Amino acid sequence: MKITFWGAAQTTTGSFHLLETRGTKVALDCGLFQGRRSEFYERNQSFPCPPKDVETVIFSHAHIDHIGNFPNFVRQGFNGRAFATHATMDLARALLLDSAFIQQKDTEFVNKKRKKRDLPPVEPLYLVEDAEKALEMFVGIGYYKWFCFAEGFCGKFLDAGHILGSAQVELDVKLDNGRDHRLVFSGDIGRGGREILRDPETPSEVETLILESTYGNRVSEPTANLRESLRVIVERVAARGGKTIIPAFSVGRTQEIVYQLNNLFNEGKLPRIPIYVDSPLSANVTEIFRKHPECFNLPTVEALRSDDDVFGFASLTYIRNVQESMALNNHNGPCVIISSSGMCEAGRILHHLRNSVHDKRNCVLFVGYQAENTLGRRLIDGEKRVKIFGEDHIVQCEIQSLQGFSGHADMNELHDYVFRVHARSGNLLQRIFLVHGEPEAQEPFAEWIRTHFDVKVVVPKRGETFEIT
Ligand SMILES: [Zn+2]
Repeated sequence: MKITFWGAAQTTTGSFHLLETRGTKVALDCGLFQGRRSEFYERNQSFPCPPKDVETVIFSHAHIDHIGNFPNFVRQGFNGRAFATHATMDLARALLLDSAFIQQKDTEFVNKKRKKRDLPPVEPLYLVEDAEKALEMFVGIGYYKWFCFAEGFCGKFLDAGHILGSAQVELDVKLDNGRDHRLVFSGDIGRGGREILRDPETPSEVETLILESTYGNRVSEPTANLRESLRVIVERVAARGGKTIIPAFSVGRTQEIVYQLNNLFNEGKLPRIPIYVDSPLSANVTEIFRKHPECFNLPTVEALRSDDDVFGFASLTYIRNVQESMALNNHNGPCVIISSSGMCEAGRILHHLRNSVHDKRNCVLFVGYQAENTLGRRLIDGEKRVKIFGEDHIVQCEIQSLQGFSGHADMNELHDYVFRVHARSGNLLQRIFLVHGEPEAQEPFAEWIRTHFDVKVVVPKRGETFEIT
């Protein structure tokens, strides 16, 4: 079998790995490369082989850097089947249509600028109709069910505990020499001990492991007490008549915050103030969460017995339409507004920040990682003057950050995962490929594995191919 690493190789975006045995090609993930606009188009257009030659794509989870280039893959000729868990399939519908819409809007904006410079227009990476065609190719498979999908390939999904529907892909592959080989693709691994989602499971008898390494060198804050920290902030800000503005991604983070607030509400610990989730995509994704209790952990399933909607309570309103969102600008008095995007780069959150940052009664509460050069990072770094919609704003509100909500296992949790896989695989475990990480996180992680286990560890580059015999 040959494995070619194409995306998420020494980077954390554009996940795509190609397997080939006995003339059959199977892709793991088909994610969008998200980076500088100059690289975006070219990187996403190129694949290691013509898409029509690939028989099957298997998706680990529905984050856009794992599924977001699939409509383009289909547009370029892929005509096979795409396997994913049921929840991933439902999330893919919401996210790929949203992504296609964004591609089209973004291209309109770019083409306006190009026209001024007398440059020819560019095409969007894909259209809504390509996303619709791609969605027809999905086949939903439950966790733990073996499915044989191509000559020499059988697979099974194990929970990865990262986002709703996230899976580790366990594959039994018939090698060119006729021997069976177990390969596991971890997808993105969650932290464990989380609200809503189950802990990541441990695959067994693994021979080759393709493992994510996002936080291979970083320890995250513990997950305990996030609810209490959230309560303290919301209560303090409400008591002084302020608004708590929470920038949060639509998938996962928003539902986690809502779930925590729901529990605080049930416990009578939430101040009696209105709470708004202002994002149509977040509202749609929350609907998908409600439909997939099979992905929940035991405490959440038990909570559902006494509370049939853990993502809704009396003081919470989901806002879809633009007029209602704009009306929030005139809201006086304390409230909580959860809106996207999570790094404050686009979306409705910008309107709420524009209206709030100058008032010292308010608080902007970050619950996720803020990348460099984003408005979110500038606010967290304490900049006192920021640009929002091209205008200068003086920041006088409180800025807070609760970082334990991360969806990725940290360094210690990744170490623990490798220990567990090794314990269940023993000498069978021959090699680990580290993907989905920056080299500064991957190298120390690779070194740690080499010192603890007799296993070959490789940090593949984009385009590198390895032979497994
Ligand atoms: Zn992910």
